[in-house]
Amino acid sequence: MTTISRTASSKLPTLFGEFELVHYQGESLEALALVYGEIGTEAVLCRVHSECMTGEVFGSLRCDCKAQLELAQKRIVAEGQGVIVYLRQEGRGIGLGNKIKAYALQDQGRDTIEANLELGFAADERAYDVAAAILRELKVASVRLLTNNPEKMSGLRDAGIEVVEQLSHWAEFSVFSEAYIETKRQYMGHILDHAGPGRSSSGSPNSGSMDSDNPISDSIDSDSQSPEQTEGKAS
Ligand SMILES: [Zn+2]
Repeated sequence: MTTISRTASSKLPTLFGEFELVHYQGESLEALALVYGEIGTEAVLCRVHSECMTGEVFGSLRCDCKAQLELAQKRIVAEGQGVIVYLRQEGRGIGLGNKIKAYALQDQGRDTIEANLELGFAADERAYDVAAAILRELKVASVRLLTNNPEKMSGLRDAGIEVVEQLSHWAEFSVFSEAYIETKRQYMGHILDHAGPGRSSSGSPNSGSMDSDNPISDSIDSDSQSPEQTEGKAS
């Protein structure tokens, strides 16, 4: 079983509310947990998020990571409790240098999966055993998971954390990342249902169920171009 140890924790005031920030050292990677409120042990609202320096630090429009992270913070604060496990596995686990190599291939026309495969990686190299170990350390046995990614749910389940509910988690994203999102949906099985692209990330974050997000019917096209309009320049 993966072992992690708690190194330190402190308060972390953020734009969205005051979290407790906990640092963990794993066997190879470090990781963080952002804990908000009294989380309890069952059906804890949870986001398992992988680091994206390009998006979260530099504001890259190639992906939706930063918007997804901030949306998770907002939803957890609105609920009054929850935890974000932040894993330092950049580029879906291939590392920062390889991620930029993959971007270069995407600049030449490959999609995000083709680029990974061409570099000799799987489409997704992430692992969730560290996330599960952190949740166990926080005494969390089961979660309601903020994700669109079925592999993340099965990865956590395989690592011993019960996922009692999946809560759709589509943040607002830019026209530049629409092709990326579409690839995740088409080829990686991400669930793009009623809470579709283009909806506001600030809309009703008080989610207790999958249905509390915006109804999509008229929000999908409200403030974004259709994918056809951006094809070619987005990948
Ligand atoms: Zn990203």
